[in-house]
Amino acid sequence: MNAHRHEAEGNGAVATPRLLGPAEIRDLAQLLDVTPTKKLGQNFVHDANTVRRIVQTAGVVRGETVLEIGPGLGSLTLGLLEAGASVVAVEIDRRLAEQLPHTVRIMQPGTELAVVHDDALRVTELPREPVRLVANLPYNVSVPVLLHLLEHFPSLRSGIVMVQAEVGHRLAAEPGSKVYGAPSAKAAWYGRWRIAGQVSRMVFWPVPNVDSVLVGFERGDAPGTDAERAATFAIIDSAFQQRRKMLRQALSGVLGGSSAAATAVLARAEIDPESRGEQLTVDDFLRIARAR
Ligand code: SAM
Repeated sequence: MNAHRHEAEGNGAVATPRLLGPAEIRDLAQLLDVTPTKKLGQNFVHDANTVRRIVQTAGVVRGETVLEIGPGLGSLTLGLLEAGASVVAVEIDRRLAEQLPHTVRIMQPGTELAVVHDDALRVTELPREPVRLVANLPYNVSVPVLLHLLEHFPSLRSGIVMVQAEVGHRLAAEPGSKVYGAPSAKAAWYGRWRIAGQVSRMVFWPVPNVDSVLVGFERGDAPGTDAERAATFAIIDSAFQQRRKMLRQALSGVLGGSSAAATAVLARAEIDPESRGEQLTVDDFLRIARAR
C-alpha cells in the first residue's frame, strides 16, 4: 500500500487508511499476483461505504467474536475490526489467508484477528466461539456453507451475509412463494431469515454478472433433534427434487417405497397427500419425518 495514496491527516502527516478502496485492492492483488477466480467466487468489495453499511446492518457489538467466511483481501474484515469485533476468518485460498494478518497489522494494528486456512464446508472447529456471522460469501457454495456453519457452530446466534440475489430471496422465502424451495425450508430449521438490503454490482472487483443482496438471520430454537433434522432434510430434498408432483408421489421413495405407503405416513402427519412441497413449512416436514 503506497504512501502517496494515503489520506492526509490534519497535521500534515500521512495516515494509513483503515479500509480498502480500489487503490489498495489493486495494490494487494498485484502484490500477491492474484487473478480473481470464478471457481472460488472471488469478487472483492472495494467500497468502504458498502463495508460500513454491512457492518452496521449486522449490528456488530464491540468485543464480540464474529465469524467471517472468505475474507479475501480483507475488505470486510477491516470493517469488522474497525467496529471493535474480534474476528475469526476462514479462507480457502492460501495466498489470501497468509496475507491477511499482514494487511491487518499495517492498517489496523492492535486489533484481534485469527485466520483459519481451510474450506468453510469442512471446518468443524474454530479458535474462538463466534456469536455472529458476517460474510460476503462465495456465491457458488453460499447455501451449503450457511447450512454447514449453522449445524456445526451453535454459538452463532445471528448474522448478515451477502449472497447472489436469487439465492437470498430463496433463503428468505415463505411457503407458497414461487421461489420457496429446499434452501428456504432447511434454512428455516435454524431460525428466521430476512432480506436486509441490496448491493450494487459496482462495488465489486471484478464486477459480477449477478445482483447481490444482504440476508439476515436470527437463530431460533431448533424444532427437533439432530437425527430428526437429517431425516427432515432428506424429505425436503425429495419433495423439491420433483416439486411439481404431489407429495404422495414425490415422497414415495423416502416414505416406504410406494405412493400408498407415502399416503399412509402423510395421513399420520396430517398432511394432504395431494399437496406439494412448496406449501409446507419446516414444521410440516418435521411432522412427516416423525410419522415415518
Ligand atoms: N470478503 C471479501 C470481500 O468482501 O471483498 C471476499 C469475498 S469473495 C465473494 C469470496 C471469498 O471466499 C474469496 O476470498 C474466496 O477465496 C473465498 N472462498 C471461496 N470458497 C471458499 C470456501 N469453500 N471456504 C472458505 N473460503 C472460500
